Amino acid sequence: MKNFSLCVLLSLVIAAHANPIITSTDSKDEDVVQNYLKRFYNLGMDSESTVQFKTISQLELKVSEMQQFFGLRVTGEVDSETLEVMKKPRCGVPDMEEYNTFIGRLKWHTNKLTYRIESYTQDMSVAEVDSAMQKALQVWAKVTPLRFTRIYSGTADIMISFGARDHRDGYPFDGPDGTLAHAFPPPRSPSYGIEGDAHFDDDETFTFHTSAGYNLFLVAAHEFGHSLGLSHSKDPGALMAPIYVQRDVDSFVLPQDDVKGIQSLYGPNPDEPNPTGPSTPDACDPKIKLDAVTSMRGEMIFFKGRFFWRSYPLSPNPEQHLIKSFWPDAPENIDAAYENPQTQQVFLFRGQKVWALYGYDIEKGYPKSLSIMGLPETVKKVSAVLSDPDTGKTLFFVGEYYYSYDETKKAMDKGYPKMVADGFPGMTGQVTAAVLFRGYAYLYDGSVMFEYDVVSRRLFRVLKASYFLNC
Ligand SMILES: [Zn+2]
Ligand SMILES: [Zn+2]
Repeated sequence: MKNFSLCVLLSLVIAAHANPIITSTDSKDEDVVQNYLKRFYNLGMDSESTVQFKTISQLELKVSEMQQFFGLRVTGEVDSETLEVMKKPRCGVPDMEEYNTFIGRLKWHTNKLTYRIESYTQDMSVAEVDSAMQKALQVWAKVTPLRFTRIYSGTADIMISFGARDHRDGYPFDGPDGTLAHAFPPPRSPSYGIEGDAHFDDDETFTFHTSAGYNLFLVAAHEFGHSLGLSHSKDPGALMAPIYVQRDVDSFVLPQDDVKGIQSLYGPNPDEPNPTGPSTPDACDPKIKLDAVTSMRGEMIFFKGRFFWRSYPLSPNPEQHLIKSFWPDAPENIDAAYENPQTQQVFLFRGQKVWALYGYDIEKGYPKSLSIMGLPETVKKVSAVLSDPDTGKTLFFVGEYYYSYDETKKAMDKGYPKMVADGFPGMTGQVTAAVLFRGYAYLYDGSVMFEYDVVSRRLFRVLKASYFLNC
């Protein structure tokens, strides 16, 4: 009965709340939802004997908790975006609050810790596994007084092993993808138990230096954060965010959110007291300069560095995500973006390359050269793009000039480039981002934004760049 009502509820919910970014849904999705919420949000643990309607509201509650954790729209209903997040590869440590805080601020009471690698994966050489683990521990040693010594026999503080499915700790792994690894927080009192240990799912393909599979260094660095006492972070840019995101391993620097977290437990590294890592941009930073803004199937998307915000017409707060968590092969730090509403494609520009997104996918054959848009070879990058579905014109801003592309004729209009200041009176600076929204053209110049009537090109207002980010 319980399963049946859940099944009906989910089917209704999925049908009624199809997200503009479309994903397919099938009957397996119900299992995905139930397993995910049981595993990471304690679903069903505290209400085994509840009546049917209560079961439903508990499900809604757990879905809401999960949506809140990931900064999604909190509806208590499983829309396709929520489902998409549930299907992403992630850490096996739960997100729910009780565990999340590791009650009692669990930490090691010594700065000298030992680790031992008990078993290996077949995916990589022994030397590569050793190196990945050592580097992953150094991520934390670099910003704290913690020092790690490897031992080869006996019980270490952090015992590292690979195992598949049931590996005898009561937390079985789930085969390929899904859960990649898990780790246990530090002990409450001196102990030689499972506390601090890190387990890696041997059904995953771990890699040392390629972008295929899951990078062992990145997974291990995250798990060791748990071994040292950190829980999952809601900051989408943090290493301690629960979802696995491919990052450039060579240039990896521990994000500031993680630095703050670990230093709150152990203090700074006496040898290097003030390291700083990359911070996640704040939508309400009054000086925020957006890389690009575009519409996308009725939403607005704001790009900044490795991140983007998406804003729904009725949502009070925009959602912030890593670009790579939605589109692993899309560029970061983009120059410009626009949507072609006819094809529902969103184009991203960086340097002389163009990518086309379609929902969660990157279109095959991309990135392509900027010249496919008909821009002259001399143009090395565009700084903003503005597309008007009513006229079928797409304007490319390059320095003080702009070009006009006819989407129907698939060709540049004659008579361009023109001066921006001539086409948009009052716009004296450089256009750094642009978007069309509800009949107005918004041209950004760094931290300010100019609002024009799209037909008359009359300037109405000068606003802050964060205007649409609800600050
Ligand atoms: Zn984790
Ligand atoms: Zn385990």
